[in-house]
Amino acid sequence: MQPSGRLHLGNLSGALLNWTKLQESYEGYFFVADWHALSTNYSDTTKIKAFTRAMILDWLSAGLDPNKSTIFIQSDLPNHAVLHVLLSMITPIPWLERIPTYKEKQEQLEDRDLSTYGFLGYPILQSADVLIYNADFVPVGIDQAPHVELTRAIARRFNSLYKPVFKEPQTLLTEVPKLTGIDGRKMSKSYNNAIYLSDSEETVREKLRTMVTDPARKRRKDPGNPDVCPVYDLHKVYSDSPIVDQINSECRSGEIGCIDCKKFLSDALVRLLNPVWEKSRIIQASHGMVEDVVKEGAKRAGETSNSTMQKVQEAIGL
Ligand code: SF4
Repeated sequence: MQPSGRLHLGNLSGALLNWTKLQESYEGYFFVADWHALSTNYSDTTKIKAFTRAMILDWLSAGLDPNKSTIFIQSDLPNHAVLHVLLSMITPIPWLERIPTYKEKQEQLEDRDLSTYGFLGYPILQSADVLIYNADFVPVGIDQAPHVELTRAIARRFNSLYKPVFKEPQTLLTEVPKLTGIDGRKMSKSYNNAIYLSDSEETVREKLRTMVTDPARKRRKDPGNPDVCPVYDLHKVYSDSPIVDQINSECRSGEIGCIDCKKFLSDALVRLLNPVWEKSRIIQASHGMVEDVVKEGAKRAGETSNSTMQKVQEAIGL
């Protein structure tokens, strides 16, 4: 995950909750991709370090467990960069130009100059990130599936050019729920409409209080339409199904007002976030826990990646 700021509900439901489940049955490697952040943010690096620490704090608070998973920072592992260089030698440029996110991101971020090799070649760095740990699976959303395909293609090319060193990893498809922000658009840091894991209970309740609802519902007694209401979208993700059904019917009949409806949602979110806040308090009071976790993670990741790099150098004949 790239360090781009504090994590919000979209990150929690789209990745973190899934990771905490996966760590129960897989040996997981989770890292802050600070070099990847440079591929689009190379001109402003002032916040990368602070965001990196904050992100690890959010991960640990959300339940990622350093006793079960290896948690580290990409730039602490120079092996990733070495493998990136070696894989760059064998990857045809058209393979990179074909990746859908290459054009899409250039269009989305048209205020930045992305005509750099770093931006074109970042999927090779991703491939190095995965192959260096001999990963069996990569948990990604559907939009990242072509990157795993590229990783497999690069592994095949390396294995056939030199010696069979790399496993071809499989995509472990994660369903990423579309989360609506408080203004009704997709929840995103850049829209300033997100609910953050680091928000206080008071802030969460206040944000929901001001959240947009069915725009056609003007008075308390007017029947509403939950299908066009962003609050209802969040209920579908975070409330228990009996509550969701109740709101669906009572909104349409005008029996429930938006203030009460939002209170149910606030309560559900506070229940979800309470253990995250509690853990965050403990970690912050522990002084140095984040540093210790990434140090230990870099050590473990270094051992595994050193062993792969030895095989890689031998296979190439270096
Ligand atoms: S009652 Fe709930 S679902 Fe219906 S419009 Fe108000 S906030 Fe939306």
